[in-house]
Amino acid sequence: MQKVSPKQALAKYRQKRDFTKSPEPANAKPTKKLKKKGLFFCVQKHLASHLHYDFRLEHNGVLLSWAVPKGPSLNPADKRLAMKVEDHPFDYGDFEGVIPEGYGAGIVMLWDRGTWKPEVTDIDAALAKGDLKFTLDGVKLKGSWVLVRTRDERTWLLIKHRDEWAGDVDVAETFPLSVKSDGDFDDILAQENPDVWESHRPAQGGVAGKMFQQIIDKAAKKKLAQQRQKKRASSKRKAVAK
Ligand code: MN
Repeated sequence: MQKVSPKQALAKYRQKRDFTKSPEPANAKPTKKLKKKGLFFCVQKHLASHLHYDFRLEHNGVLLSWAVPKGPSLNPADKRLAMKVEDHPFDYGDFEGVIPEGYGAGIVMLWDRGTWKPEVTDIDAALAKGDLKFTLDGVKLKGSWVLVRTRDERTWLLIKHRDEWAGDVDVAETFPLSVKSDGDFDDILAQENPDVWESHRPAQGGVAGKMFQQIIDKAAKKKLAQQRQKKRASSKRKAVAK
């Protein structure tokens, strides 16, 4: 198989986005040198038109990516649908924030990150075959997993292998927060100005729309509390200065 450069691999990624509007990384070349403990992996929880989990594995300088609607499961009996999507830049692995209107509009949370190790000698051959076994060493996800391709090029399944890291714990439900900021979606949203919340709302109706409204409400409350705290602190300073 011919080697694809990161720039070639990312053509689709770049084509879908307007980087004058989106805060997502545009560069094909990684800007950060990682301490090379191994290959990088991450999972980004993404509330767009639907809530899903983007599962990403570093390979050949980019992040191979699958969108997993229900998120990873530690239960080997669960076969989680994983739709193969376009490769993402290596720098995307650190991204958390609000994506404005357009492709992928919504909120991205860095839900897990760490390193991965293939359990095969040839990653490209395993991908071509549609059967990639690997080990994860993340904050939340660990142990042996497999991605298996099913009926077509895009449709894969993410399955946990039976080992000491498998179990019944609903990992998405039990550990919902960011590994980068420790925050939830509303904390990420509260970093932005309220005027972008409405304009960047990805879904008007349905489950995602309802979820987004609740997050906006929570973020607004947090923002208000922050402002009150600031006011209190500044009036205290003034009182001391008098
Ligand atoms: Mn996504």
